[in-house]
Amino acid sequence: MTSPIWHPFHQHGLGEPIPRVVRAEGAVLHLADGGTLIDGISSWWVTTHGHCHPRIAAAIAEQAGRLDQLIFAGYTHEPAEEVARGLIDLAPRAAGRDPLTHVFYSDSGSTAVEVALKMALGYWHNLALDGLAPPRHRILVLEHGYHGDTIGTMSVGERGVYNQAWSPLLFDVGTIPFPAPGREQRTLDSLEAACAAPEKPAAFIVEPLILGAGGMLIYPAHVLRDMAAICARHDVLFIADEVMTGWGRTGTLFACEQAGVVPDIMAVAKGITGGAIPLAATLATARIFDAHKSTDRARLFYHSSSYTANAIACAAAAANLAIWREEDVPGRIANLSDGIAARLARLADRPAFAHARQLGAIAAIDLNAPDAGYLSDLAPRLRAFFLARGLLLRPLGNTIYLMPPYCLDTDQLDQVFAVLADAGERFGVRS
Ligand SMILES: *Cc1c(COP(=O)(O)O)cnc(C)c1O
Repeated sequence: MTSPIWHPFHQHGLGEPIPRVVRAEGAVLHLADGGTLIDGISSWWVTTHGHCHPRIAAAIAEQAGRLDQLIFAGYTHEPAEEVARGLIDLAPRAAGRDPLTHVFYSDSGSTAVEVALKMALGYWHNLALDGLAPPRHRILVLEHGYHGDTIGTMSVGERGVYNQAWSPLLFDVGTIPFPAPGREQRTLDSLEAACAAPEKPAAFIVEPLILGAGGMLIYPAHVLRDMAAICARHDVLFIADEVMTGWGRTGTLFACEQAGVVPDIMAVAKGITGGAIPLAATLATARIFDAHKSTDRARLFYHSSSYTANAIACAAAAANLAIWREEDVPGRIANLSDGIAARLARLADRPAFAHARQLGAIAAIDLNAPDAGYLSDLAPRLRAFFLARGLLLRPLGNTIYLMPPYCLDTDQLDQVFAVLADAGERFGVRS
């Protein structure tokens, strides 16, 4: 029986199997054929505490029977208010930096980033209307960045085969080289020069501490701190895309905390509901909000989607925030990180692997394989191997990474690393 479904990031022409999942619990997916899989990548980086967390599931059920959805232009509801207050409470803060004070809701990481870009450009537009500053339109980005798959977010992301079809439509940006080990100063110099250029940039957007889809590329907190400081000195808005890094993945609730950075605008999504239901938020400082606040209707922030601040999604996010406040989530993440570190070190010694790296509960290692390009058939063969061994992983080219839910236990971790070792034997070079 053929399905009418067109799957994302899936080449239907290759006839790869599409497993049917009927149930999930904790870190485990139950398949229609009776098998199980360990969800090694949190179902695309969203599931934080584990699948079907009872508190979040209960909050969703309760809210669904009370108020499901409400137009959010000019109306409000308690779950949205509660989550907004919670986000502002938990957001990164630092002495001498304007705090994040306002929360704009949307429904995916891509829309949260689109909103961030529109806020930054709207800020400069409105300042220019008042004659307070010349208009600014240019966005700076970090090499290898990923911010989503809409036209705007592709524009600020790395260009490649995955967005070639639309490249004529993508807007021009200034690209700052990735701060690879030993080349951090080049990144900072390049950013300094771009900020001081005659065409002043409106904003610089970064994934803090680790670039996800770009290959799990990690850079030091001091570089993040210095990049934010350069932007502050040149009055270039600093946008942190915490869509992947947020909600504990890097070891702290938000990655910016590790660098003492408070961005002007911050995008969050993925784990905001614990991964149960779509919701996103873009946080901004008062000056961004104030630039749009006026008695002039033309100044309002023109962005909305039908499900903005959906009440059921907000109730799930409120339950997630309560879990963060009331349970020792950082302790759980620290345990998981330690467990990963010990096992990753053993794997890293094998000739089949290179570049073992870890940040919090995210680990990655490159497979030394004969043909390892993004379009080689290595990734699908690895996927099939992992599937057959009861593990859901989705390598990025020859980069195998783990981003499990925080409830993954020691036995499951052992299982995962046993399969990784076998994958090295099967697909990697031997010496
Ligand atoms: C996943 C991701 C996005 C896009 O989020 P979606 O919810 O998939 O639209 C944006 N930025 C980063 C850093 C991401 O990892």
